[in-house]
Amino acid sequence: VGMADTSHPADSHDRIRVRGSRVNNLKDVSVDLPKRRLTVFTGVSGSGKSSLVFGTVAAESQRLINETYSAFVQGFMPSLARPDVDLLDGITTAIIVDQERIGGNPRSTVGTITDANAMLRILFSRLGEPRVGSANAFSFNTPTVSGSGAIKVGDKKASKATFERLGGMCPRCEGMGTVSDIDLTQIYDAERSLNEGAITIPGFSADGWYGRVYGGSGFFDADKPIKDFSTRELDDLLYKEAVKIKVDGINITYEGLIPRITKSMLSKDIDSVQPHVRAFIERAVTADTCPDCDGTRLAEHARNSRIDGVSIADACRMQISDLAAWVGALDEPSVAPLLEKLRGTLDSFVEIGLGYLALERPTGTLSGGEAQRTKMIRHLGSALTDVTYVFDEPTIGLHPHDIARMNDLLVRLRDKGNTVLVVEHKPETIAIADHVVDIGPRAGSHGGEICFEGTVEALTASDTLTGRHLGYRSSLKSEFRRPTGRIEIRGASTNNLRDVDVDVPLGVLVVVTGVAGSGKSSLIHGSMPSDAGVVTIDQTAIKGSRRSNPATYTGLLEPVRKAFAKANGVKPALFSANSEGACPACKGAGVIYTDLATMAGVATPCDECEGRRFSSDVLEYRLGGRDISEVLAMSVDEALDYFADGEARTPAAHKILLRLADVGLGYLTLGQPLTTLSGGERQRIKLATAIAEKATTYVLDEPTTGLHLADVDQLLGLLDRLVDAGKSVVVIEHHQAVMAHADWIIDIGPGAGQDGGSVVFEGTPADLVAGASTLTGEHLAAYVS
Ligand code: ADP
Ligand code: ADP
Ligand code: ZN
Ligand code: ZN
Repeated sequence: VGMADTSHPADSHDRIRVRGSRVNNLKDVSVDLPKRRLTVFTGVSGSGKSSLVFGTVAAESQRLINETYSAFVQGFMPSLARPDVDLLDGITTAIIVDQERIGGNPRSTVGTITDANAMLRILFSRLGEPRVGSANAFSFNTPTVSGSGAIKVGDKKASKATFERLGGMCPRCEGMGTVSDIDLTQIYDAERSLNEGAITIPGFSADGWYGRVYGGSGFFDADKPIKDFSTRELDDLLYKEAVKIKVDGINITYEGLIPRITKSMLSKDIDSVQPHVRAFIERAVTADTCPDCDGTRLAEHARNSRIDGVSIADACRMQISDLAAWVGALDEPSVAPLLEKLRGTLDSFVEIGLGYLALERPTGTLSGGEAQRTKMIRHLGSALTDVTYVFDEPTIGLHPHDIARMNDLLVRLRDKGNTVLVVEHKPETIAIADHVVDIGPRAGSHGGEICFEGTVEALTASDTLTGRHLGYRSSLKSEFRRPTGRIEIRGASTNNLRDVDVDVPLGVLVVVTGVAGSGKSSLIHGSMPSDAGVVTIDQTAIKGSRRSNPATYTGLLEPVRKAFAKANGVKPALFSANSEGACPACKGAGVIYTDLATMAGVATPCDECEGRRFSSDVLEYRLGGRDISEVLAMSVDEALDYFADGEARTPAAHKILLRLADVGLGYLTLGQPLTTLSGGERQRIKLATAIAEKATTYVLDEPTTGLHLADVDQLLGLLDRLVDAGKSVVVIEHHQAVMAHADWIIDIGPGAGQDGGSVVFEGTPADLVAGASTLTGEHLAAYVS
């Protein structure tokens, strides 16, 4: 697939050639990437690494794959835009292994998406006692279906027969493992009557429309407190089926509160409802472990069939490292090939540092780094060769101790005959590259050029920003800030935590560290008080429409719209892309989205406005010589100049832009859709916005994600300024430069999952290094020396 140009067979056999790429900020970039080698791409955040690796090479590979479908199939697919590049050849099928979370499908677990469950099902159908049916009988996503019907069309003798397909789905919870219930105390206040506003559902106040419907229905006395209702009255209020009644002379449909809100609120996508309704749903709907299957999602026959006393439910609940040992000990020649494949998959989990997970873990609860490593498992077992694997910072979430294993896996993929392209900042992974491509020298319009190509040794010796930082070692601080108070965590036992007591000092920079899966997030997210003074800034997707961008998210658009309106004597509303000023064809999105059933949706630029997002009338209005779409196309740094003085001078906008530059996002384009930002960029934009709020304590989860060593210095400067201004900062981090810079370190371990969950060290980095009694201490000692 994807041999677009066969005119240079020798070249395209051993390298991927890129000539003249102008994707995003790339300045006519030409580069050769050796095939079946491991190439690492380095450079500051925003320099253009993703534009080259994802935007050019991987994008063109996917476009070429689409072209291999028949004209008929292509008719159903949007035509992907060709990346802006003069020539690209030698590419093979690209597989992107990124940090995007693995869908929100609640039926998807670590086991289902890696095929480990499929293999276990076959294993239990062969060896389980008592013997059950087929492999399907162990699948919690397959319901049991029974019925009757004619078996064979056209067969005269065919008679009606009953059939049954035995699935493994628990009938009570339909394979979800949880049953939801509505907490009635959140629906009404029993002390009050309907006329006194007994119904506490948002939008159901006594004098509103729904309040009048229930109060005026005639089914009950609207002045009687609910606690005095008869069983019949309460039943009518809560559960009555839809009936037509007349209230105040108007024909309406009456329905009990539970069916009414089930339809109007609970069946909606929780992310699409208004915040106060979402808060109500989160209060009122309780999810409890299914009492029939004990949360295993499985039907009884599937739970009762065992191998050596272990059921498939037990197997999926075990920590994967334990499961691997159990499967390893099974000796059954009749299923030897299956066992071998299953062992291979389970061993991959352990090798990749995910041995602490259980197969039953819902994929929606995995962190970005865990999701990426789980996706990687699927490819390690794959028989494909000569594929181009593209990774986006695979070491995210990994302690220095875990990185060595990740490196081994990257090397293994290469040695199977694949081309491995990795965007990465960690020196440990840069060190194993066969070839390094450094992009820069800086971000945005100050980047986009190849600064270096060659070996790691040559890069370290070079006078590039990356080369200089690679050789550099930060030293330990000798002065530590004194705490101004503390948050006391007592008896924390979320997930794997072992009754942890720890004090988190306030007014200083605290780093929480430990190997992946040791319990850092469980401690910080599960046990920190969630009062208004603590804000958590993570990398999860930002809720919002496809028209959201840095300008709308940070509130920058407000003063900008006002300045445009004032300069032109028109309404400010015209200058937002979700108003009447929007391009009518794409409704202000700048692109037309096509959702495909089988693949991820695809966006193609809008023909009408050519991606400018506004109607042509609006684009006539100018401020300081620029129209609104030109302003939204500026980077933060460009906009800082533009709004600083002259006709466009807007201090309110300037202030917000400064905060964005402060968190290292000076290169970011103001109108870039939030959906295209990386996890690290999302986190930094949240940080820039949160700084303006009244919080006193900031909790950050791996803020160095996406940051070059040079960017990390800038981040540390920002954290220092926050602490010096009297704030408390707690970061979950593995980056050694950040650890070395901390005033206080809390190290969780010693291992992952059930082997972790304790505080193994608390104190200053100097004491951690001096003691070197923990894994973190050993690594930090080696790093600073
Ligand atoms: P890196 O991967 O090195 O952090 P990127 O390739 O993501 O850098 O970004 C390079 C430049 O291109 C930055 O100025 C960034 O703002 C811009 N850019 C990246 N993606 C988009 C996009 N989808 N739309 C507009 N500009 C973008
Ligand atoms: P860290 O942040 O140090 O990587 P975590 O706190 O995420 O570690 O995980 C600690 C343990 O808790 C692991 O065994 C992990 O599998 C488990 N765990 C974390 N989150 C969940 C969850 N949502 N459901 C079940 N187990 C979880
Ligand atoms: Zn159940
Ligand atoms: Zn348009």
